[in-house]
Amino acid sequence: MRGRGLNDVQVRMCVACDRRAPKRTLVRFAVAGDGVVVVVDRGANILGRGAYVCPNIDCFSEAMSTYRFVHALRKRSVVDREGLKSEFLKFVDSGSNFEGERKDG
Ligand SMILES: [Zn+2]
Repeated sequence: MRGRGLNDVQVRMCVACDRRAPKRTLVRFAVAGDGVVVVVDRGANILGRGAYVCPNIDCFSEAMSTYRFVHALRKRSVVDREGLKSEFLKFVDSGSNFEGERKDG
């Protein structure tokens, strides 16, 4: 129990499946200044509330179908599901460096 400092990994929970994973292996959704929910890169440069989802379409779909997603963000935020979906898929497609990625479905 010593020297956790530098190795301290921020863990977040996927709003769809409750899996806990290092923050940077999850896709973050955040509310932009105009109240629209956007997909955020691991840079996480949008401050404020965020919702985290595993980088796979199953969790994304689950997240979209559950109220917890909006709840984790902001009640009156605007969710453009189709737009988010394409953004999300773009992320996952290009995200070969996602550490949590698995093909074993
Ligand atoms: Zn998940």
